[in-house]
Amino acid sequence: MTVLPLRPDLQGCEPYGAPELDVPVRLNVNENPYPPSPAVVADIAAAAGRAASGLNRYPDRDFPGLRAALADYLAAESGVSLGGEQVWAANGSNEVMAHVLQAFGGPGRTCLSFTPTYSMYPEYARDTFTRYVTGPRREDFTVDVGAVAAAIARERPAVLILASPNNPTGTALPLNDVVAVLEAARGHGPADTATSGDSADSADTATDCVVVIDEAYAEFRRPGVPSALELLERTDADGTPRYPHLAVTRTMSKAFGMAGLRLGYLAASAELVDMLRIVRLPYHLSAISQAAALAALDHRQELMSQVASLRDERDALVEWLRAHGWNAHDSDANFVLFGPFADREAVWRGLLERGVLIRVVGPEGYLRACVGTSQEMERFRTALLAVTGNTTGQATTLVNEEKNA
Ligand code: PMP
Repeated sequence: MTVLPLRPDLQGCEPYGAPELDVPVRLNVNENPYPPSPAVVADIAAAAGRAASGLNRYPDRDFPGLRAALADYLAAESGVSLGGEQVWAANGSNEVMAHVLQAFGGPGRTCLSFTPTYSMYPEYARDTFTRYVTGPRREDFTVDVGAVAAAIARERPAVLILASPNNPTGTALPLNDVVAVLEAARGHGPADTATSGDSADSADTATDCVVVIDEAYAEFRRPGVPSALELLERTDADGTPRYPHLAVTRTMSKAFGMAGLRLGYLAASAELVDMLRIVRLPYHLSAISQAAALAALDHRQELMSQVASLRDERDALVEWLRAHGWNAHDSDANFVLFGPFADREAVWRGLLERGVLIRVVGPEGYLRACVGTSQEMERFRTALLAVTGNTTGQATTLVNEEKNA
């Protein structure tokens, strides 16, 4: 028998990922349920075809065309004006985040986050030999900025990751809180040992902790909820970025309805983006991916047209769950965390038997369902009532019918 030298810290680990099951109603990985229209498909296919004729050559390594197009999209979506040099992209925001940890994390460095949150964060840290430290969110899943500042001062993290809206809770961060965190992060990153030598605690070698606001679900936020992108426009009196240590990650996987494309991106200061270019593998974004993403971005209005109805469906789901006696958290994303259930695994299995796949994730007793089409949501609601024996809905219906009679 051969014994392969898997890294000791990876022994016994399972690959990350939700079960991939072929069932009629898939509400488990927060995708957009609407496939691209035939017109969008035709344009993407034509763009991929044109790119295919040049596949003997490596793709554009720094892809300025796609970065400018993503900056354009952000301007339309959030009203924030950024240059293409302030945008970075990779195969999903997962890979973008891996670049961040490769550039700023590493042995002897710390990545800080606040839980419950997205369960890939510890994996980015593990894979880059970065220590992963977490603090708790409040009971309502908001972030206690004082506690974040205290943890930053204590841990001197190289990277702080906060998801907004958060997965799996749907909680968005107020802009003032992001500002407070950015101020707390200033000068409180790890000591810059490259320039300080042994005097690791000397003040002039202090770095700023990189603050990543993971906005994978930002397009689903409720009206009036700001994006941290706005903070990238702020400058000091001399015109330099006020928050050069802020990075906002986004993805085409969710609201944009292109999870299969694998295109995530980040907006930050040009200085930070340039540092990510050091660690990316050469030609990491294939010519086909670049061409398909550019073609999809041309259709942004159509691809985003379902976002409003998905938001309505989400808000209706929260109300329906509450009307049936469950806790459901307000969400700025395309999913809802709800419960509690004495045996959430049993509820998950019962739903699966009825063709509905959701996710066991988050605090004990809770489940997360993402928002599908209205037909899918109807099926989810019917299945959940059947599995849990909840008759509150039937009782409500009877009362209403009696009133109408
Ligand atoms: N961030 C969060 C909070 C997520 O939930 C996800 C996907 N589930 C991602 C990042 C990664 O998405 P992608 O790699 O598809 O861009």
